[in-house]
Amino acid sequence: MKRLLILLIFMIAACAPLSVDVNPTLAPPLPDSTPTSIPAVQVDPATSAPAAEVTDESNIDILANLPDPDCSALTPADQEGPYYTPDTPERTSLIDEGMQGKKLILAGYVLTADCLPIPTAWLDFWQADVNGEYDNEGYTLRGHQFTDNKGRYYLETILPGEYPQRPIEHIHVKLQIPGGEVFTTQLYFPIQPVNGLTVQLEDKGDHFVAYFNFIMK
Ligand code: FE
Repeated sequence: MKRLLILLIFMIAACAPLSVDVNPTLAPPLPDSTPTSIPAVQVDPATSAPAAEVTDESNIDILANLPDPDCSALTPADQEGPYYTPDTPERTSLIDEGMQGKKLILAGYVLTADCLPIPTAWLDFWQADVNGEYDNEGYTLRGHQFTDNKGRYYLETILPGEYPQRPIEHIHVKLQIPGGEVFTTQLYFPIQPVNGLTVQLEDKGDHFVAYFNFIMK
């Protein structure tokens, strides 16, 4: 009886299908084809949103790591001043070859008061050069762009100089959200802060990175 039982067990084992279980934890890792260190900036082609250009790695890194926005207060308006020129070129860098001044990267969101992103918002920047002078003939240090589908913008420029009438560093900006009116304001720097309009500034040595979020009605 015992032998019969052993024989039976042996026969069952022999008839069992041959399967090789691969423990997933022991399986060799698959080659990682998706980059994990640089999250791609996704622009939904369906919305055909004119997006802030993604031109290099610093652009991607900065846009992917914007500080968490504070949407508790609307961005205040500020005066336009006398030096606005319409019909600026669309671009995300205002830096021309040989331009003097310390590079400044300005980036952030355009958001609703509920902290929802506003894609395709139009932003038009203009500023003085390092000597505090505006180009009122051409488009030096002037340019517009649109937020991407996450409501983000990215601008490369230089730290503006002061001029006698305005002894304070500032960047002018006009902003229009889709279907909204043109909104005009200025951005300032921590050395001479202005309530609600001061950028969060990081000195990276050879350049600055400034963050500012526009919170719109
Ligand atoms: Fe000005």
